[in-house]
Amino acid sequence: MDNTGLKREKLELPNGENKLLLHSCCAPCSGEVMEALIASDIDFTIYFYNPNIHPRKEYDLRKDENIKFAEKHNIPFVDADYDVDDWFARAKGMEHEPERGIRCTMCFDMRFERTALYAYENGFPIITSSLGISRWKNFEQINDCGIRAADHYPGITYWTYNWRKKGGSSRMLDISKREQFYMQEYCGCAYSLRDTNHWRLQNGRERIEIGKNYYGDEGGTTPACS
Ligand code: SF4
Repeated sequence: MDNTGLKREKLELPNGENKLLLHSCCAPCSGEVMEALIASDIDFTIYFYNPNIHPRKEYDLRKDENIKFAEKHNIPFVDADYDVDDWFARAKGMEHEPERGIRCTMCFDMRFERTALYAYENGFPIITSSLGISRWKNFEQINDCGIRAADHYPGITYWTYNWRKKGGSSRMLDISKREQFYMQEYCGCAYSLRDTNHWRLQNGRERIEIGKNYYGDEGGTTPACS
């Protein structure tokens, strides 16, 4: 139970399975997902594959925070490649697309394709992602990309569970504050950093300072992730 008064439901993976590969974008988004899976006795491993995150300093901050929380709960963590050149090559021509548009579809496709491949090669029948918990994201878009990736590999299913339900969004914030996670302030790629800074300057705010803000008692918002 949390301060929303909503109890977590006992989760069950599709097809009666109990082994999951969780693509994680960051600690704030995956904190609630991880605690919900642990509470449901689901056997899972974290797969961190996010070559979209730019610059490297921000990538390392997000990844290290996620590793720390995984270690705290003894959850296996797969630190996949930082294929940043490949990501930029795929984003060519989409530099000025808005968030939730075709560049984001490419970005989810790239990350979920690799997640599904790893799952296929390493005996994980079910995959899902923490990306869907953020209210900044288009949940349908994420699920479509996840299902498309899983469809390329026999025996792999993308789990479309809505992590925002039944107090999930609120618990995500509670956990981020309790753990004092690093607070990212833009989605992740160089273009989202550029656009968020542009918006901030137009609205009388300072540019983003990477590595500056952490969740704490004084507040914090839903991660603008990734
Ligand atoms: S805005 Fe976010 S989801 Fe979209 S391409 Fe950039 S990092 Fe990926």
